[in-house]
This record gives sequence, structure tokens and C-alpha cells, in this order.
Amino acid sequence: MIDSDRKSTPSEPGTPAPGGCIPLTEPAMRGNEWTYVRECLDTNWVSSAGPFVQRLERDVARWVRANHAVATVSGTAALHIALLVAGVEPDDEVLIPALTFIAPANAVRYVGAHPVFMDADPEYWQMDLNKVRDFIAKECLWKNGMLRNRTSKRRVKAILPVHVLGHPVEMGSLLDIAAKYELPVIEDATEALGSEYRDRPVGVLGDIGCVSFNGNKIITTGGGGMIVTNNSEWASRSRYLTTQAKDDPVEYIHNEVGYNYRLSNVLAAIGVAQVEQLPGYLESKRKTAQLYSRILAGTPGIRLPEEAEWAKTNYWQYAILVDPGGYGMGSRELMNCLSRADVQSRPLWHPIHSLPPYRDCQAFEVKTVDRLYERSLCLPSSVGISERQIRVVADLIRKEATRETA
Ligand SMILES: *Cc1c(COP(=O)(O)O)cnc(C)c1O
Repeated sequence: MIDSDRKSTPSEPGTPAPGGCIPLTEPAMRGNEWTYVRECLDTNWVSSAGPFVQRLERDVARWVRANHAVATVSGTAALHIALLVAGVEPDDEVLIPALTFIAPANAVRYVGAHPVFMDADPEYWQMDLNKVRDFIAKECLWKNGMLRNRTSKRRVKAILPVHVLGHPVEMGSLLDIAAKYELPVIEDATEALGSEYRDRPVGVLGDIGCVSFNGNKIITTGGGGMIVTNNSEWASRSRYLTTQAKDDPVEYIHNEVGYNYRLSNVLAAIGVAQVEQLPGYLESKRKTAQLYSRILAGTPGIRLPEEAEWAKTNYWQYAILVDPGGYGMGSRELMNCLSRADVQSRPLWHPIHSLPPYRDCQAFEVKTVDRLYERSLCLPSSVGISERQIRVVADLIRKEATRETA
């Protein structure tokens, strides 16, 4: 790759930004990361057996108030194992949101099951639980303790809510639905470490949850994840499956197909240092959101993110909606304007149900998601963003709004 190519390539979220640029999400390594990594190298504890793996598991379990935590190589691997452990089998169906990063849909396919896509609610952009109820009422048959999709004839086996952008799903209603139809709940809390639903941390509000330490997440190990649960049987099964299903470490007896999904001690060391800084990171994300909202309030055509009365979001990623009529241009045009000023922004993820691998899957009355996708714009939200940088971004957005009418 030549240098000029490199410049024109927008950098990945969670990577260092080119000088002068205000990045979307950039990791911050300002605590004990070096000290702990050096400790690993000095003591030769570098593989997946090591004290930092255990410490990270303990620390994250404490944060989400889970009895058990199992570190994994990524959040996606955590989702894969959680689905297996929850008993999702080939040809089952799993209810997931259409508006999310693609990882949960892929994990459903890894176990040979099929995602059924649910719409998002227009207020908080989370899985629309009224539509989940409608889907079950209109499209499914509840018989002999089993929920079956009338059209596909498949068993609906689990529900996988995602706390999109860190804002919690209304878990009370979701758990009611799940209990009524005996569906295990796999909570994708990969974006939501530190978020709370009615004063309880997300993660193990359902039966099993997943956390991610990817480079763009609120805390990072470069890459990594965690399975969290209060179910001790599920926890040991998760540990077993992530470590090649090893039944005898001396004779190498494996009674099942397992996975090498363990996190290395070196990466866990970074994670332990990152968790130490989580309170400060959460405060920073909240302050960032408050300042954006204060400056952007009243901008014509700009809708600000809202926090539900039952929610405390970690504001992992601050996102606005741009109404082209009211604002004078669409979200992609605004993205290009910001880009010319060296400010990174990007829309929410492309709705999964219309992407090639998932086009043939059922999507139940998914409508809001397309509008959210079209109008959304995620603004720079790194934990290390300065007040000045936030003002620069917000002022640019305000200025573009008034340009036409000025
Ligand atoms: C980041 C993320 C994951 C997991 O990502 P990894 O990169 O595999 O750690 C899963 N689901 C959602 C919604 C995510 O945003």
C-alpha cells in the first residue's frame, strides 16, 4: 500500500486516528496497561493460563454482578458459546434485532440456527418488544412447551436482545415474554458494559450474557470478550467448550468438539488495567453525551438520543438522527462535510436483514430500522475526547444547519 492510499482510507473505529483528525472511537491506554503486560512478559505467563485471565474474569463478574465469567478471544466467540450452552441447535430460530452490528447474526449461523429479525422501537432504537409479542401471537404456535414458527415450521428456541449503542433494552418486558414461552435469553451486552436497567447492571439480567473488549468498545484488550452468567452449570460448560472440550489434560481426552476461544494472559492484563479505569470512562462518555446534547439542542432537523426513564446508558457511542427535510441535507452528506473538516462520523450499521447472507431470513414487520439507518450518524465518542473537540464537532453540525437559511 502506498502512502497516498493510506490517507484516503478512513481509519477503522478503535484504531489510532491520523494526526489532527477527531476520531470516532479511539482506545485510551493510560493506566496500568504497560505495568501489567510487562509483568506477563517478565514472568513468562503469556498464554491463556495465567493470573490476569482470572483477575479479569473476577473484575468483570463483579461489574455486572454475575456469579461466573469466562474470558474469550472475542465477543463474537462469547456469543457463539452462549448460544451453544443455551441449547440452540441446528435448524432452530433465534429472535434478534435487525439493527445491530452483525456479530450476533453470524453467531446464530455458526450453530446452524436461523435468525429471525425484529424491528427497532423509534424512541430508543432497541428491539421492539411489541413487535416481538406480535410476532409470537401472529406467526407462532405455542404447544407442548414449544414455540414453533407456523411458516418455517422451525422451533423458536431463544431470544437474543442487543443493548444497542449501550442503551439497555426494556428487559422487564422482554423477560416476561421469554418466561411465558420458556425461551432462554442471551444478552448481547457487548456495547453496554456499565449500563444499567432499573439500577441493575446489564449482562446477566437474562440467562447468559456476552461482553466485548474489541478496540472500539468502552474498554478494550485489543480483542477479547467474556461470557457472564449466574448459572454455574452453564459457566463450566462455557469454560469446557472454549478450551477444546478437554476432559483429560494428561491423556488428551476430548469427548466433544470444542473450540480454542481462550483469551491470552497478555491481553487479559490489558483488560485488568482497562477495568480499573471504567468508572472514569463511564463518566467521560456521559459528559460527552451531555455536552453534545446541550450544544445540539434545538438544531432544526437533528434528533438527539434519548435515555429511557428506566435506563442508564453508558453512551458507548453518541448518535443523532438527521432529518434531511428539516436539516437541509441527509446524514451521509453531513458525514462528508464533517470528514472534510477531519471529523470522523458514520451511520449505524446497515440493516442486517437486507444484507446478502441474511436476505432470505424472516424479518417480521421491520420498518423503523431502515429509517434509523438512513438518518443516523454516530459522532466522535472516544473516552479521551476533549471538550474542545466535542465543541468543534457540534459547532460544525450547527453551522451546516443554518447555512441554507442564513
Ligand atoms: C462488538 C460487538 C460484538 C462482538 O464483537 P467482537 O469484535 O467479536 O468482540 C457483538 N455484538 C455487538 C452488537 C457488537 O457491537
